[in-house]
Amino acid sequence: MMKHIYSFSDGDGQDKKLLGGKGANLCEMTQIGLNVPPGFVITTEACLDYLAGDRLPDGLWDEVKAEIGALESTTQKTFGAGPDPLLVSVRSGSAMSMPGMMDTILNLGLNDTTLESLIMQTGDERFAYDAYRRFIQLFGKVALGIGDEKFDVQFAKIKQRAGVKADVHLDAAHLQEISAKFLDVVRRETGEDFPQDVYLQLQLAVESVFRSWMGKRAVDYRREFHITPDMANGTAVNVCTMVFGNKGDDCATGVGFTRNPGTGDKEMFGEYLTNAQGEDVVAGIRTPKPLQEMQQEMPELFRQLVEVRDRLESHYQEVQDYEFTIENGTLYCLQTRNGKMNAAAMVKSSVDMFQEQLITRDQALLRIDPELLEQLLHPRLDPDAKVTPVVTGLPASPGAASGKCVFDADLAEKLGASGEKVILVREETRPEDIHGFFAAEGILTSRGGKTSHAAVVARGMGKPCVAGAEGIGVDVVLRRAIVGEHIIHEGDIITLDGGTGEVYLGAIPTLPPHFSDNLKQLLGWADETADLRVMANADTPGAASQAREYGAMGIGLCRTERMFNASDRLPIVVDMILADSEEERCAALDLLLPIQRADFIKLFTVMSPDPVTVRLLDPPMHEFLPTARDLVDEINMLRIYRDVVRGRQIALASISAAPPLPEAFTELSEEHVVDALIKKERMLQKVRELEETNPMLGHRGVRLGITYPEIYAMQIQAILEAAIECSKNGIEVQPEIMVPQVITSQELEHVKKTVDQLTKDLQQESAELPPFKFGTMIETVRACTRAAKLAAIVDFFSFGTNDLTQAVFSFSREDAENKFLPMYNDSGILQDNPFEVLDIKGLGQLIKMAVSLGKGQRQDLKIGICGEQGGNPRSIQFCHDVGLNYVSCSGPRIPIARLAAANAKLRAQQAAR
Ligand code: PEP
Ligand code: MG
Repeated sequence: MMKHIYSFSDGDGQDKKLLGGKGANLCEMTQIGLNVPPGFVITTEACLDYLAGDRLPDGLWDEVKAEIGALESTTQKTFGAGPDPLLVSVRSGSAMSMPGMMDTILNLGLNDTTLESLIMQTGDERFAYDAYRRFIQLFGKVALGIGDEKFDVQFAKIKQRAGVKADVHLDAAHLQEISAKFLDVVRRETGEDFPQDVYLQLQLAVESVFRSWMGKRAVDYRREFHITPDMANGTAVNVCTMVFGNKGDDCATGVGFTRNPGTGDKEMFGEYLTNAQGEDVVAGIRTPKPLQEMQQEMPELFRQLVEVRDRLESHYQEVQDYEFTIENGTLYCLQTRNGKMNAAAMVKSSVDMFQEQLITRDQALLRIDPELLEQLLHPRLDPDAKVTPVVTGLPASPGAASGKCVFDADLAEKLGASGEKVILVREETRPEDIHGFFAAEGILTSRGGKTSHAAVVARGMGKPCVAGAEGIGVDVVLRRAIVGEHIIHEGDIITLDGGTGEVYLGAIPTLPPHFSDNLKQLLGWADETADLRVMANADTPGAASQAREYGAMGIGLCRTERMFNASDRLPIVVDMILADSEEERCAALDLLLPIQRADFIKLFTVMSPDPVTVRLLDPPMHEFLPTARDLVDEINMLRIYRDVVRGRQIALASISAAPPLPEAFTELSEEHVVDALIKKERMLQKVRELEETNPMLGHRGVRLGITYPEIYAMQIQAILEAAIECSKNGIEVQPEIMVPQVITSQELEHVKKTVDQLTKDLQQESAELPPFKFGTMIETVRACTRAAKLAAIVDFFSFGTNDLTQAVFSFSREDAENKFLPMYNDSGILQDNPFEVLDIKGLGQLIKMAVSLGKGQRQDLKIGICGEQGGNPRSIQFCHDVGLNYVSCSGPRIPIARLAAANAKLRAQQAAR
């Protein structure tokens, strides 16, 4: 018979897939000697069996009973009976941490009888009724599906009648009354009495935790964070002996991080509440105290807690996020998991932990998900903006954001989907608000601490969050918030600074972030580790110098057409396109040559001495011309002008002794208008000639270069002359000429002839031409299959995976992403957007083939990728695995790509071991 349950002292702490992260860690902590209340884990396999068959797997219940029996003998308590009743918590926990996404029930095992025993045993009626009312509500919500509000209404009534604000001020009689009311709620809502049989309680609780794996919240979360069944499948259920932080003033409950998750500093960080239960801290119902205060309040326990903190970090070699409870002076560890920190804290702690010799340099790199660095590229508030905050809360997750206030998650989701920037403003958030978090730029709450739900989730997402801004009164019904004398209505713009906790009215200017020394250090280690080089897709000198700051090791793709679009060039480009003869075209190109040369000189200079890959003109010509529809409108307008000008002349001629007109009037002669009209009409004719049904599959790339050879000749000349000029000035350069859209070696030979001829001509002028490379993009399917032939002509390949993805999927890259692709992703037909994440299973095969054919032909062939996927960590892993030399991506992705390149190598080494 299959084993479904492991006790904390037996379970394998490494097997998170089977025991879930929480369960595995409870086992591990127990086995390294930390004080964990005894308990057991029901496996994720049992959960999957339950979900498949809609019933508990055979034999499971016998195992549960045996484990409860074992718990009874270890704890000397009895499940369902006095004098010392065993109460347990029932918690979910999958292989991947999904904070707050699944269900938990506390104090299970209480019923009318055990309640009496608990009162007798503790002599504390208040405590016992408090435990009971919490249990009824949680159980009612989770296992019986009764909405929280049904209980909250009753609770609020009694609190109001008692005239108290905080729960701690309610006395035993109030709590007894609340428990009775809650039992009534259950009876009313379910038509049955609250279950008194503790095994039935346990069974319903276990089943509801299993089911919560497929609940909307959990499913949404997994989709958003790309948690696949390979990573986590099913939830385990942890059944743990209850310990109480709310039995009196020598009791407490709290949560801590082994380092500050906002800064990475090594310090006691966390919050606690005396005489409270864990859920009070996480739910933000009471605002807790910083852990440091415990040093005065409970010095011996604080000392023990420091020891636990150190033990956890050195054992796990990772920053931990832990929960603890103190019951009558005894400290218990209830949970630990890897701490979710923001990017700055991850980077700092990586560098620090390496320096403290806690982890190796490889571990320091591998523990950071490269995508996380994106946060560091977020804007921060301009310190020169002289503004005063309207309110200050806790700095719960750094970064700055402005947006329209919205007071509920559904509206945040709706507005966010329509492209609005919103700030989700709540009194406190709950797990069911998660969809609002995804849509919001930032989160503001008026209650709760730095470890409240809002804070933890926002930090995980890298979104700014200000929590516990108690100066704000949020009125969800009237959809407004009151701050001092200000009323913020829904839709008003506010700005948050999650790094300082400050909140401002209106939109405040932001500044781009800067690279910390720690980040530079870490990325330096990454560069030393990686085999892949990281290049930039940059088209202008400005973009190139920004890319340099991000650590680009050269330019892997300069799209020259972007240089044509500047306002001083476009008219010349238009003339070139409108030219009726080669002569006319060459005249326009002669004007463009010095401009392009100057651009290349600047680019080469910024990137010196690293390579700069310049791609020859790629897009179809009509992209530089206005659309036919715009032209028709303009022509109609010009015809009206022409008639007006004509009519004015006739009218003026008929007035004898008409006064002289102001100059502006006489300037607009009929001749002027007619000239403009003729030009536009010619343009329209050309636009119509150039019109194509599928321009992306049409007259573009090398096809253009072959039909209009003088365009490529001008560009090649500009590149070579720029290289000569730089060399003359002592600037070391490595130019690379790249041909787009190639399908056959004959095309490359054609262009190569031009390159050779121009090289010869320049050398004859005795100019010193530095060495350069000639290469091709591989972005058509045929280029992949004919890679050996192409490699015989070129020095390098660069995979253009934007076009190649389009070709392999037969998806239009222009349209797919806003038409059917989201639905394909949502429904799981495709796991990722192939324009973002390289399609390894399909396109990956073609790339592997092209690499092997190319290298088979020419061993020293340099190969890279310059499509958008070149900045995506999973795609970078593939690029490393197939032996590419470089990836090229947009500037802000470069730090991510640098870390991903190092991690790709380290992972490959791990896999090979
Ligand atoms: C590509 O196709 O991947 C590429 C980099 O070129 P572009 O996106 O300019 O077509
Ligand atoms: Mg392309």
